Amino acid sequence: VFKRLVLLLGAAAFVQPKSSARELFSGERAWLLLEAQLAAGPRIPGSPGHSRTRDWLLAELRKVARNVVRDDFTGKLDGDSVPLTNLSADLGPPGPRPILLGAHWDSRPFADQDPDPAKRDDPVPGANDGASGVAVLLEAARVMRPAVPVRVVFFDGEDLGRELAGFFLGSRRFASRLGKERPRWGVVVDMVGDKDLEIRREQLSRDGAGDVIRKIWSAARRTGHASAFPDRDGPLVYDDHWPLLQAGVPVADLIDFNYGPWHTTFDTADKCSPKSLQAVGRTLVAAIEAEIP
Ligand SMILES: [Zn+2]
Repeated sequence: VFKRLVLLLGAAAFVQPKSSARELFSGERAWLLLEAQLAAGPRIPGSPGHSRTRDWLLAELRKVARNVVRDDFTGKLDGDSVPLTNLSADLGPPGPRPILLGAHWDSRPFADQDPDPAKRDDPVPGANDGASGVAVLLEAARVMRPAVPVRVVFFDGEDLGRELAGFFLGSRRFASRLGKERPRWGVVVDMVGDKDLEIRREQLSRDGAGDVIRKIWSAARRTGHASAFPDRDGPLVYDDHWPLLQAGVPVADLIDFNYGPWHTTFDTADKCSPKSLQAVGRTLVAAIEAEIP
């Protein structure tokens, strides 16, 4: 019986079509990647947790992608100069005009929205705000076999600001150095781990990257993730897509901004779920798989 079963399984594996990358995307694996970031401590530029995570991300990217590039620069945190690093890596065939997949990997130094005033200078753990997007893109990079060039970018210094000018330092730098090789379109994932995930169509994305929004919402329906991507318009959110939109690259921000622990000390793993990471990851992979050269 055992032998026959093995033979049957072997035959089944032989005749089955190559399983698609969106089915291979594992929310559980993405979850481990989220936890690994939290275990390193807050990813505040200039801190030990920041440099540890940078080195870990470099190693993880080298496992799943090629042409891993580290771009060091500096930014300001409350008047002090701090080291920042953008990381990028390529998937799929080499070529110009890749699809851009971005997430910020830093976490916010101060929980200025915390309900307890005494904690407003404490770091934000950044389970959802930071770690969730990185986890989704790392797991997507592991399983994705795109037919078109794809560039994964981890932006630093997204969340350093006390006011708007202090935010998005990594994506501003990336956008300012695009040169000739401009991405054809892109997606930024940020705060995609919420247990009650409901990503609405963000306003800047609707205005500047409507086609990208349609691709993603359509992929969510094909893959059975319509509840995570309801047919609803969301508010305007300034995020890493903004500098890219200003540079003329259609980039949509996938974000569930309806998240109580935002910029508080309560942004911890228990507010997030592997299921949400999987819904976003499988949707994203399906959207990229649908692209033909
Ligand atoms: Zn934030």
